[in-house]
Formats: sequence, C-alpha cells, structure tokens
Amino acid sequence: MTVPTLQSLIAGRWIGNEPAAALSCAVDGRTIYHTHAELPDFAQALEHARAAGLRGLLALDFQERAARLKALAAYLLERKEQLYAVSALTGATRTDGWIDIEGGIGTLYAYASLASNGLPSGNLVHEGPAVPLGKKGGFAGSHVLVPRNGVAVHINAFNFPVWGMLEKFAPSFLAAMPCVVKPATATSYLTEATVRLMAGSGILPEGCLQLIIGGTGDLLDRLQGQDMVTFTGSAQTAARLRATAALVRNSVPFNAEADSLNCSILAPDVRADDPEFELFVREVAREMTVKAGQKCTAIRRAIVPRARLDEVLARLRQTLQRSVLGDPACEGVTMGPLASLAQLDDVRSRAAELRATADVVFDGDALPPPRGEGVAGGAFLAPTLLLARDPHGSAAHEVEAFGPVCTVMAYEDIDQAVDLALRGRGSLVGSLVTHDPRLAAAVVPRIAAMHGRLLLLDRDSAAESTGHGSPLPALKHGGPGRAGGGEELGGLRAVHHQLQRCALQGSPAMLSAVAGEYLRGAPVIESELHPFRRHFDELRIGESLLTHRRTVSEADIVHFGGISGDYFYMHFDEIAARDSEFGQRIAHGYFVLSAAAGLFVSPAPGPVLANYGLDNLRFTKPVAIGDTIQARLTCKRKIDRKRKDSKGVGQGVVAWDVEVRNQRGEVVASYDILTLVAKRATQD
Ligand code: NAP
Repeated sequence: MTVPTLQSLIAGRWIGNEPAAALSCAVDGRTIYHTHAELPDFAQALEHARAAGLRGLLALDFQERAARLKALAAYLLERKEQLYAVSALTGATRTDGWIDIEGGIGTLYAYASLASNGLPSGNLVHEGPAVPLGKKGGFAGSHVLVPRNGVAVHINAFNFPVWGMLEKFAPSFLAAMPCVVKPATATSYLTEATVRLMAGSGILPEGCLQLIIGGTGDLLDRLQGQDMVTFTGSAQTAARLRATAALVRNSVPFNAEADSLNCSILAPDVRADDPEFELFVREVAREMTVKAGQKCTAIRRAIVPRARLDEVLARLRQTLQRSVLGDPACEGVTMGPLASLAQLDDVRSRAAELRATADVVFDGDALPPPRGEGVAGGAFLAPTLLLARDPHGSAAHEVEAFGPVCTVMAYEDIDQAVDLALRGRGSLVGSLVTHDPRLAAAVVPRIAAMHGRLLLLDRDSAAESTGHGSPLPALKHGGPGRAGGGEELGGLRAVHHQLQRCALQGSPAMLSAVAGEYLRGAPVIESELHPFRRHFDELRIGESLLTHRRTVSEADIVHFGGISGDYFYMHFDEIAARDSEFGQRIAHGYFVLSAAAGLFVSPAPGPVLANYGLDNLRFTKPVAIGDTIQARLTCKRKIDRKRKDSKGVGQGVVAWDVEVRNQRGEVVASYDILTLVAKRATQD
C-alpha cells in the first residue's frame, strides 16, 4: 500500500509530493505518512498572509469573524468522525480524542460566543472609561485596541494536534491575525486533516490559515514587529526560538507554553475515609493515564502528608492496576500508547533519571501485555509511579517525563508541602485537595505566584469539577518561570493580547469619533424625534435626549418605600438621617433610577424591544426631598450582532449613556443601559 505524503498549505496551494521523513502509527509502528521534501517558500507564505490574509480578515469585523468561527465549529463538529479516525493513529483513545477534537471545537464555540457578547462591531475596541486629563473637561485620555496588521506564527506540541491548533487559532482569527501553523511533525497528519477540512469549508477568508509540515526554515528570520509567535513545546526549544535574532531585533512578541512540573497537594486535613482522599487518588491516576500522561498539565509531583503516605500508595497501586493498555480500537482498552517511538525513548530515559532519586511503586509489571494486533511495534508504556527518597532532593523537581509517570513525595507539615510545590519553579497548574477553606486561604497566596492555575478540589466541587488537567477557554492557560511565562486563553484577554493597545489623548469629541462611541463631554445630537423611536440602523452615536425635570417629594420616598419594602433609616428616620453624613432624609438610589426611566422612556410600542441590563451604575450624590432631577440619555454604543428575531426582523444592541443631574447641575446618578433595538424590517 502506498504511504501518503502530507502537504503544506502555502499561499493558497497545497504543496509537497516528494516523500521525506516517515511518520509511524503509535499503535503498531507501521509507516502511515511521509512528510514532504519540498521546502516551502516562507517569503511567499508571509506575503500571502500580509496581503490576501489581512485583506480578507479586515473585510470582516469582530462580530462577523465571531459568526464565521461559530459556523466553522459547526462544520467541524459535523465531520468530527473523520478526525477521530485519524486521531486513533496517534494512539488516542476515544476519550483522549474527545479532549483534542471536541475540546478544540468547543474552544471555537466558546470564543465565538465570547466575541459575540463582548466585542464591538467594527475593528477597534475602546478600552474605556476615558479619564479627564484637564480641569475644564476639554482634554481626556483613553485606550484603543486595533488589529496589529501582522501574522501569527503558531508552533505547536505533538500531544494535541487539533486542540493545540484551534485554541491558538480562535483568538488570532478574532484579532484579525492571519495564522501560519506549524504542528509538531510526529502527529502533523492529524493537524493536516483538520486544516484540510477548515480550508475546504469555504468559511474562512483566503490566506487567514496556512500550514507547514516539517521545519520552519527561515520563517522566523523574516518576522517583523507587527507579527507574533506563540509557541507550545519544551522549555529547551522555547529558549532557543525566543532568542532568534530577528525576533529580538524586531521586538516580536513571543508567547511560550513549556514543560511544567505540575503538582497536586493532598492537604493534612484529609483522612483516608474522606471523599477528598478518593478524589486525590482519582485525579493523580487519571492524569497519569489519560493521553498516556502526555498532557502539559498532568500531575508530575503528588505531594502527600507522611501520615497518609502508605494509604495513598496502596490506593494508587490498586487504581493503576486496573489500567488496560492496548490499541484503543480494542474493546475495554483504557490507555493507548505514546504518540511515537521517539517519544517512548524520550520518556523512558527521563523516567530513568527520575528513578535515580526515587523507588518504583508501580511500573505495570503485573499488567497484562497491551491488547491488539501488531502492538509489539507500538509505543506502549505502562503507568509508572515513583516515590521520592528525599522529597527536597528529588529529580522530579527538575526532570519532566512527558508520559504516564508521576513521583509521590511525602511532607511533614504544610510549610514543607508549600516548599515542595514551589520547587517546580513555575507551573501551569497545581491542585490542592482539601475540605478546609481556611487552609486553602492560607496556602493559595503562598503558591499562586508560581502557578498559572490552581484547582481547589473537595467534595462540594467534585461533581462539576473539570479536573486538574483541563485548560478552559474562559480561564488563563499558561504559567510563570519554567512553564514558559506565557498566557493563552482566559476569555477575551487572549484576543486583546493579540491586538495592539494604543493610548489616545484629545478632546472628548475627538476621542468619541475615533472610539466609535459617545464619551461624556463630546457634542450630542439633539432632534425632535425621541431616540427610542429610531430603528437600530437610523440611530446615530451621540443622539441624545434631555428630559423634562421632576422635583422629588416626601410622598415619592414614602410610596417607593411601600412598593419596594425598603424602609432603610436614611429614607424614613428623620433623627437618624439628621445624624448621618447627609444630615437629612434622602431618596432611595433605586427611586432615582426608576424616576429617571420615567423621565426618558417613550412609552408607546416602537423599535426598542427590551431593556436587558445596566452597567457601571454609580450614585454619586444624594437626592434630598425638594431636589429637582433631570436625565440625559445618549446613544453611546451600537453592536450589530447580525441577529434576527423569530419574525425575521434584525436587531442590534444599543448601550445608552445616562446621566441624572440635580438642580445645581451635579451628577447624582450615572450608568449605561443596554437595550435591544429592531432594525427596519427591510434591513438585515
Ligand atoms: P518540542 O520538541 O519542543 O517541539 C515543540 C514544537 O517546536 C514542535 O512543533 C517542533 O517541531 C517545533 N520545533 C522544534 N525545534 C524547532 C526549530 N528549531 N524551529 C522551529 N520549530 C521547532 O516539544 P514536543 O516534543 O512537541 O512537546 C513536548 C513538550 O511540550 C513537553 O515538554 C511538554 O511539557 C510541552 N508541552 C507544553 C504545553 C503547554 O501548554 N505548556 C502543551 C503541550 C506540551 P518538530 O516536531 O518538527 O520538531
């Protein structure tokens, strides 16, 4: 049978026909693909990304790219079985594949939703609020984030060929950065299969995604200041690549996610019959066996109280003994091989280094041989549990065996446990298994600076816990020090990270025009028509209504107290109110809010469909009996999410700036209200 040659996607063309390196199946070692021998033209790849890629991405705005990302996720989900079939060749079980494939697609969905809800229309993010920089209100400052007009080079590790690419691609795509993806060669065939689907979907603009099979040649030497590199892999490679002369010379941002000697601490409050004990054992065993321990977040160091050591070792041995190694296609197999024979060699030699300072607790000697045909040629390694002889001097604080290997170390007291945790010198994730919130509150501040993420696991969170080893789109992934010092994911932070932040100074009118949203102090547009009578597409930023006035009476306060049940002394107790900071009874803040709505609302049915929230509320001055209030309502921001209601009528989000002032012109309440506003029926 002929062995297919993988291809790179460069400048819109799939290139590579001459076979080069042989890539083998993790399960049985047979050659399944070749990389290609032709060297891609990286100058052409970058030119294509900078021209066609940027043009296509910037022809869309944040909201449109979010919609494309969602469509792409749905497209891939429908075709996921094609990817599972290829994933099996990497040795992944169905569960392993699920983390990689559906985890990756889920990340696309999550980013589509985050962007749709949290990014504006257009291609500029205003990072408000603006701050006054002069005494008379004529000069202010703020920040904007804009696309960098550069290329994102993504260099990925071998262990998550799909998720590893998609979790980087999603924020880059939203930030309008064309991506050049370089997967690790060993499992690049699964990334190639995914990119073929993505490129064939017709959903992505031309040039926004290119793929390199094999080496990066002179690609990094050609990068410029607007570009960026995001790397996942070993600390050694990260150190070498981040020192590339062109990257240093041109200040190209380099984000690294590297090795991590993650720990899990079993706290001293946990007894062997507590649920937390079982949770700890389950997490350690799971992190050793899922993906055959080839997870950057896997637990490499299990830190346990000496008083619990024997029980922990016995339970872990028992649990690991249930592992069923073999071809994931075989019934009952729970653990596949490592991704390649080279990886098997690497993990074996690292495990030997670890054994120099540890005793073997479990190495699968008593496990049956791996199930399946031809598995003798596969990259199988049984789970290996070690016990550090001297916890402080253990090689486990220095050496990462990127496979099913974990070292247990015993501590005498919590101070020693903290010290051991910190010896990892910077980790992606740590977990503390305890049912004592006071202990957690004391330990977390001591170890958090050395961790990218901390899981506090106990019986209350267990049922819903996503586990020690799962990076999530909403939470930052990345750790300090040895873990590379980078940050990925973390919600919209990852998108903002790939945009360029620029501080802006100028008059409020100037800043408003640039930011595309109304800022206080900028001129407003007043007309005969109430802004609530305008459809989304007609409404202009800055369109404003100054309401009539209303004098607040004691009856208002009494009625509002009756309706709300709020009889707080400040509103009802003359004597206590006189002794207070305000010296008199004042109106409820929520009355002021309600009265303002009464002042600015336009009651008849119209294009405003719903008021769905309120942001940034501040009651800045008290409103006393006899004070007169007046509101100004101004169209602040419009976001077109390209949504339609059930009748097919389009709608958009409008944020309104509301200022309520008293008879002296002082602001008494300030906030944004959020509404859904219909488009004209003929519009999208
Ligand atoms: P690696 O050997 O450092 O390789 C990582 C990536 O760098 C691969 O795509 C590799 O390509 C590429 N690369 C190597 N040398 C290069 C060069 N001179 N120029 C350009 N690219 C180069 O790591 P790995 O073996 O794939 O992955 C295992 C390591 O990754 C482990 O140490 C693990 O801890 C770490 N990891 C970290 C995370 C995280 O999120 N922090 C996630 C997963 C893995 P080739 O394959 O073609 O050499």
